[in-house]
Formats: sequence, C-alpha cells, structure tokens
Amino acid sequence: MAMSRSDSDLAAIYDAMACGVVVRNAAGSVVFANAAAKRIFGRAPDELEGAESPGEDRRIREDGTTMPDDEVPNVAAQARGEPIRNVMMGMVRSDGYVRWLLVDAVPIKDSFGRVREVVSSFTDITDRKKAEHELERQALHDPLTSLPNRSLFLDRLEQGLRTARRVATPLALLVMDLDRFKEINDTFGHRAGDLLINQVAERIRSDLRETDTVARLGGDEFAILLPGADQDGAWRVAQKIITALQRPFEIEGDAHEISVSIGMAISPQHGEDVETLLRRADIAMYSAKRTPGGSAVYAEEADPEGSNQLALMAELRHTIETDQLQVVYQPIVGFTEGEVMRVEALARWRHPSRGLVAPGEFIPLAERSGLVKSLFSRVLAMTLAQCAAWRDANLPLQAAVNLSIRNLLDPELPRVVGQALERAGIPPGWLAFEITETMLMAEPNRVLRTLAELRDLGVQLAIDDFGVGYSSLAYLQRLPAYAVKIDRSFVSRMTRDRGSAEIVKLITNLGHALGMKVVAEGIEDQATYDACAAVGCDSAQGFFVGRPMVATAIPAWLAQGHRTTTIN
Ligand code: C2E
Ligand code: MG
Ligand code: MG
Repeated sequence: MAMSRSDSDLAAIYDAMACGVVVRNAAGSVVFANAAAKRIFGRAPDELEGAESPGEDRRIREDGTTMPDDEVPNVAAQARGEPIRNVMMGMVRSDGYVRWLLVDAVPIKDSFGRVREVVSSFTDITDRKKAEHELERQALHDPLTSLPNRSLFLDRLEQGLRTARRVATPLALLVMDLDRFKEINDTFGHRAGDLLINQVAERIRSDLRETDTVARLGGDEFAILLPGADQDGAWRVAQKIITALQRPFEIEGDAHEISVSIGMAISPQHGEDVETLLRRADIAMYSAKRTPGGSAVYAEEADPEGSNQLALMAELRHTIETDQLQVVYQPIVGFTEGEVMRVEALARWRHPSRGLVAPGEFIPLAERSGLVKSLFSRVLAMTLAQCAAWRDANLPLQAAVNLSIRNLLDPELPRVVGQALERAGIPPGWLAFEITETMLMAEPNRVLRTLAELRDLGVQLAIDDFGVGYSSLAYLQRLPAYAVKIDRSFVSRMTRDRGSAEIVKLITNLGHALGMKVVAEGIEDQATYDACAAVGCDSAQGFFVGRPMVATAIPAWLAQGHRTTTIN
C-alpha cells in the first residue's frame, strides 16, 4: 500500500507520528528526520538532515554512566546488522539538562545483505522518568518532613558502616524521640502535631553537616547518622540538638515546650552491623529517658535484669510488624449449651532466641514505651482477619480483644477500631473489648466517653479480671458493658476456699443485677467447672474448657463437640 504513495504523502505520514524517526545512511549521516524528531531534538529540519548525528550531546546509559559510541543504538545496529530494541538513552545537553529517549534502531539491508540505512525510532520519556524518579523519591522520603524515611536511612547506615570499616573511621548513630509529643498530638490535634514534627526536623537539619543524614523513622522518632564521629563528636551533636529543641515551638499561636531523649551507639565499639547498632542506640535511648540530661551513650548495663528489659523493649518496637508477634485464641463457652460464645485473642511474642515471651512481660513494656498503640492495632487486625477467615470457612466465631489503658486514653481509638472492622468486613457486634477494673478508675470521665463511643460503634465491652480492683458500684452501673469476667484468682480457689466461692457467687449475682453476662476465668478442672455452673455463671473460660491455641487448631477443637454461635 505504502509503495503506491508519493514521497510527500509518506513524509506527511511520518510527520503525523508521535515518535521520532531518523533515517541514516551507511555513512551515518541523517537522510531523513520526521517532525517529531525535530521537535525532540529542538532542531530545524535542515539542521538535522545531513548532520552526522542529531546532536553533539553526550549520551548516557540509564545508570548515568557515559554510553560508549559503539553502544549507541544506530551505531550498534549498523555494525551488527541486526535490530537493537528498547535502549534507554539519555542525551545530556551542554546546560546539563538530560533528555531521556527509548530507542529502537533497525537496519535496512540491500540485496547483498549489506546495511544500506538504519531507521531509528524513539520516544521522549523524560517526563515519565521524572515521574518515576519522583515516585522513588516519595518511596524513600517521609512526606511530612521530606526527610529520608526508615528504609533510605537503613540503606545509608549500611553504606556508612561499610565505608567506616574500609577506611577505619568511627561512625555514630543517634536515635531520638520526643518525650511529650503524644500529649501535644492528643490535646492540640494532628495538625499541631504535624507542624511540630516539621519544626523539629527543620531545627535538627540546620544543626548538622552536609554529610550527616537525618531521617524520620516514624511518629516522633528520628535518627541521625554521623559518619566519622566518635563518642565525643556524637555527644556534642546530641547536646546541640537538645539545646536547639529547648527553645519553645510556636504552633498556631501557642508556645509549646518539648524535651527529647537521644540514644547513641558508636561503631565499631558498639557494633559493626546495622541491626546491632540500631538496637543498641534504641537501648541507649530508653536509658536516656531516665537520665536528666536527655542523652545517653550505649553501655552494657550494670544491672542485668534492667538491661534485659531495655533490650527487650528496644527489640519490641521492631517486632510488632513482623510475624514474631502472634495471636492465640482461647474459647469462652456457655455453661448451659456448651456453645462457643467467643474466643479471646491473646498476644504472644515468639522471640527468636528467648522463645515465647508472655504478654505479662511485654505488654507492660509496650505500655511504657508507647508501643502499645501499634501493638493493639496489629492484634486487632490479625484477630479480625482471622474472624473473617473462620466465617468464610463457615465457622462464625466472635472475638474479644484486650485493651490497655493507653489504648483507652487514645482519642483515635474509636476511629481506628471502626476502620479495622470495615477493612475486615466484620460486623461490630462480633467484636468485644476486655478492659480491667483498674483501667476504669484511671480517668473515669475520659474513659467513659471513649467507651460510649465504642459502644455507639456497636462493639461489645466486657470487664476483665473483675474482683481484684476497686470499682465503685455506681460507676460500674454506668458502664456500657455486656459482661463481667470473674478474676481467675477467685475461680481457681473456689473448690478449696469457701470465701472465694462466696465471692464468685456474689459477683455473679451482682453482674446479673446489672444486666450483664458473667464469665468465669481460669477454670482448670471439672470440680471448678461444676461449682461455677452451680452459682449461675453464664460462660466458662480456662484450660479445662480449652487452652489458648493457634487459629489453625480451632477447627479441630470445635470438632470435639463444640458449636459456634452468633448470638450474644
Ligand atoms: P486476661 O485478659 O485475663 O487473659 C487470660 C489469661 O489467663 C491468659 O494469659 C490465659 O492464657 C490465662 N488463662 C486462661 N485460662 C487459664 C487457666 O485455666 N489457668 C491459668 N493458670 N491461666 C489461664 P496470658 O495469655 O498470659 O495473658 C495475660 C494477660 O495479658 C491477659 O489477661 C491480658 O490482660 C494481657 N493480654 C494478653 N494479650 C493482650 C493484648 O493483645 N493486649 C493487651 N493490652 N493485653 C493483653
Ligand atoms: Mg482478657
Ligand atoms: Mg482476665
């Protein structure tokens, strides 16, 4: 078809094409260039045609290195006599501007098989490259402060450590967090929190050298990498930062004061790999929190128990997002019908070297270090995902998740819970939260408000470990709870101790009088089970009924004769 067209016709077709087309003769001179080529190279047609190459620009490869002449697509196609496709080539203009082209070069041969002409076609992908670059930048930077994020920082730390080893210089790692950030965030809102973080980032940045890296690891946590700095150098920088952050911050007309804790670890003496150094800087940061000056260098703690706790706390923060954090489920079963009312989600930390760490050990650490919020979100998400999986397998099981006081004081809690439910597609009524009596007394009004909001979402609430705290009855009555769980200490002594048996009976009657269901916790044998049933408890929980188990063990446990129920 094209054969019958006139040259001017063909030229019009080429000019209509979006990609640039340049045809060169065997000598490498341009014999034809279409309109797009001229546009891309910014040359008049006659300037292009006849020219040896469309520009004297330096050509670079995708990685930025100079592209040798024999690698330039049209040259290579000519030399090898075969098509060269999809070559990314950058043309560096004298002013430094780089135009990126995606090039195909195809040789056209004469009847003797000699390359007569080479047709190059190319697309200008500069904008696309820019967009990719921007995406990459976004993936490696914190959007709020534009500082490097955790993954870029880890990369720099890794590189820094390698260089430090090679040239035998020290390197200092500083990890810091703001001591009162959460309060400001909670009291003045996220916008104020964001503005504060930004100003903090700005002050740290202006105090550092060009070669230092400051990154935002997340939340109110920053890390600073000081190549070449020893302990003295690190200490000086820490003091500078502490001083810089002591000046009040002005945010939306209010002055705020914050303090920071900075932990330092120096390579090589405290570690030569990323993980060790980070962990030790974290440990130092926790001791900094207990130091009046606000900064501390890593030291093998004199008290082995203390350092053990600190080490655990430091590790915990990196664990929450990994599969070391697990959830096991313990069934709660109705006395009359034996149906499964719920499963209680219990957190487990499968530590690679310490083995199973009990929640009694790490939940208090999480509370002290402000990690309990992410811990909770993670346990909730895992539990709801599990409920959805069970439901899809035709095992409708409702779940109960434990809350910590810090969770209850978090104004974000109802929103976080609502979102998690929505994401998992689980009806709110299937989820219950367990709160302890002592938590209720901490800040009654604030807590009651949060509980009411949770209740409005449709989520159920139960009072955990009941009987060991000191709740006021009037207060209990105002609680929007559906159940009380009698503390294990009374239940387990019931068959041996009349007093405990009386307490269980009393609490059961009290619960019923307040319109709540009563759950007996910690039932370990048949006699206790019977005793609880006799005093009128509604449901049983304990090793006798079912131990906390991994999710995959639940179907087999159910198959032993337990039924699921969706009635509350
Ligand atoms: P809890 O909410 O009262 O949970 C019941 C605890 O009693 C569980 O201990 C369970 O394993 C244990 N238990 C159940 N039946 C028996 C029994 O028959 N005999 C004995 N001796 N013990 C029994 P666990 O899993 O070690 O949890 C301890 C506490 O840690 C929980 O007490 C709860 O307050 C807290 N916890 C667990 N997971 C989480 C969580 O994800 N978030 C929060 N904030 N707290 C959690
Ligand atoms: Mg509980
Ligand atoms: Mg309990």
